[in-house]
Amino acid sequence: MQNAAFRARRIDCVYLPFEVDPKHLETALSGIRVMNFLGVNLTVPHKILAMTLLDEINDYAKIFGAVNTVRVRNGRLQGFNTDGYGLVQGLKEDFGIQLKNKQILILGAGGAGRAAAIQCALEGARWVGIANRTLARARALMDEVRWANKKVAVQAFPLEAVPLRGVLRDADLVINATSLGLKQDDPSPLPADCFHRRLKAYDMIYQPSETSFLRVARKAGAQAVNGMSMLLHQGARAFEIWTGQKPPVEVMRRALRKACSDALRGRGKLARKKQ
Ligand code: NAP
Repeated sequence: MQNAAFRARRIDCVYLPFEVDPKHLETALSGIRVMNFLGVNLTVPHKILAMTLLDEINDYAKIFGAVNTVRVRNGRLQGFNTDGYGLVQGLKEDFGIQLKNKQILILGAGGAGRAAAIQCALEGARWVGIANRTLARARALMDEVRWANKKVAVQAFPLEAVPLRGVLRDADLVINATSLGLKQDDPSPLPADCFHRRLKAYDMIYQPSETSFLRVARKAGAQAVNGMSMLLHQGARAFEIWTGQKPPVEVMRRALRKACSDALRGRGKLARKKQ
């Protein structure tokens, strides 16, 4: 989607993936200072580590404690975080909702769950629940969410249907930020009787495009959408940070959809070959 955006805006740049061992991240970042890069995106596990290696971190990224976008300006490395923005835009686009005054349950307390929970607090959600397989991680995140906005009510839960079924009865939105669903045969983190018609269900996973979480939510009558919109909008914001230009969002959306369907077709071919 970034390359499609560069072409659409006639910017002479290319977006490439690099696999960097965490122990070489500092060297890699020093390299981009002097190699005429506009910037880079960072993904797990570099997002947190990079916080100590950059020259400047914007206030927003400081609150998240993680950087996913780096801009190079006059040889200085500036860190940003566009994940929370991507989620908010995605939810607005897919469900037409804002997070203010909402009651939101987040499944997962890893990097994505953390970004979602903190963003919900910053947006003024009324209540944020964090449910995680490892309860201690959900509890630790609860403290960070309180620090981001003292007015938000926050609770931590184990990732189990019994406490969550009751909690979800009054919730507006449930976000799956666990990695459960990345594999085709992964079960849903919640059973069907946890969902209802008034609930909106967002799965941060975008591939496969329909996870078990989305399937059971839809069957129960909930509005259910995958995480492609979040991916799109965090990328669009990164494009704007690097280039200073308005991102061609529709061009990026088409490129992203095509890349996902090509990847799906590739997987299908591979599975047929293995048979
Ligand atoms: P992460 O830091 O590795 O965290 C993984 C989370 O999933 C943890 O909460 C973990 O619980 C939970 N988990 C893993 N396996 C599980 C299982 N079998 N049962 C229940 N819970 C399980 O990963 P992440 O960076 O947060 O990413 C999480 C998901 O969000 C991934 O699928 C990723 O693709 C997606 N994501 C999407 C976007 C987007 O733009 N749409 C952006 C970021 C991430 P424990 O703490 O108990 O291990």
